[in-house]
Amino acid sequence: CGIFAYLNYNVNKDRRYIIELLFNGLRRLEYRGYDSAGISIDSSSDAPRPPLVFRQEGNIESLVKSVYQEVTATDLNLEESFSVHAGIAHTRWATHGEPAPRNSHPQSSGAGNDFLVVHNGVITNYKVLQQSLLRHGFTFESETDTEVIPKLAKFVFDKAIEGGDQTVTFSEVVLEVMRHLEGAYALIFKSRHYPNELIACKRGSPLLLGVKEYAEEQNNGTSYNDMKFISKNGHPKELFLSSDPHALVEHTKKVLVIEDSEVVHIKDGGVTILKFEHGKRKDGKSLSRPAS
Ligand code: GLU
Repeated sequence: CGIFAYLNYNVNKDRRYIIELLFNGLRRLEYRGYDSAGISIDSSSDAPRPPLVFRQEGNIESLVKSVYQEVTATDLNLEESFSVHAGIAHTRWATHGEPAPRNSHPQSSGAGNDFLVVHNGVITNYKVLQQSLLRHGFTFESETDTEVIPKLAKFVFDKAIEGGDQTVTFSEVVLEVMRHLEGAYALIFKSRHYPNELIACKRGSPLLLGVKEYAEEQNNGTSYNDMKFISKNGHPKELFLSSDPHALVEHTKKVLVIEDSEVVHIKDGGVTILKFEHGKRKDGKSLSRPAS
C-alpha cells in the first residue's frame, strides 16, 4: 500500500540512522492503512554486501521490534558506517495472499536475495508468469502476485550472464521485466548484483522522487544546495522514493512526480529517467549522467 526508499550517496550514515529513516518513512505511510511491513538493507558496507530482508505482519512498531531483535540476535553492528547505501521499505495492503511474513514485501528472487522488489498494485498476469518461471525451475514461497517480479528479474539477469553479457545493466534487466508485466504497479528494485543502485518504475500507481543535495566541500549533512535538482557530479546527496509525498516533504522540497512508464535509475549519485513504451524501451530524458 505504500513504498519508500532511501539512498545516501557520499554522505556517511550509520546503519541505525538508515534503519530509523526507513521506519520513519513507513510511519508517514501508515495513515493509508496496511496489514504488514518490511525493509531491506545491506549486510555490510564492504563488497560483497548481500541484502538483508526483514518482514513482519501487523503494524510498523512490530516490524521495528522484530528488526531490533534480529539485530541483537545476529550481532549486526548498528554503528557500521555506509558512505553509499540503498534501502527499500514497504507497507502492504494484501490483495493476493493473506497477511503473513512470507507474503510481506520485499519479495525476493530466492536464496541470496539477488533481486528484491517492493510493489504497490496488482500484477494481473502473474499466474501465467508463475507457470513459466516454475517450468524454469523457480519455486515460490508466497501467495502474492508480486513474487514473480524479482524471480523474473533473476531469470533475465542469469540469462544475460549465461549468454556472455557480463555488462548487463540494472535498467536493462528491469526494462525487460516490465515488458512482461500487466496490471497496475509502482515498483522499487534492489539487487545484490547492483549494490548502491536503485530502480523504480510505475504504471497506474503513484511514485515520487525526492532529492536533497549537498555542496561538494560540505559532507556534514548541513548545507543544502538548491541550485541544482540532480547534479551531474559526485556531490553528496540523499535520494528518496515514495508512493506518497508525506514521506518526502520532511526531507526535501525537490520532488519530481514520476510519470507512467518511466523508469528511474539511481546510480553513482546520478539519476537517469528512461521511458518505457509499448513493449520497447525508448531513451527518454536524462536528468544527469554519473560522473566519469
Ligand atoms: N498485490 C501486492 C500484494 O498483495 C501488493 C499489495 C500492496 O499494494 O500493498 O502483495
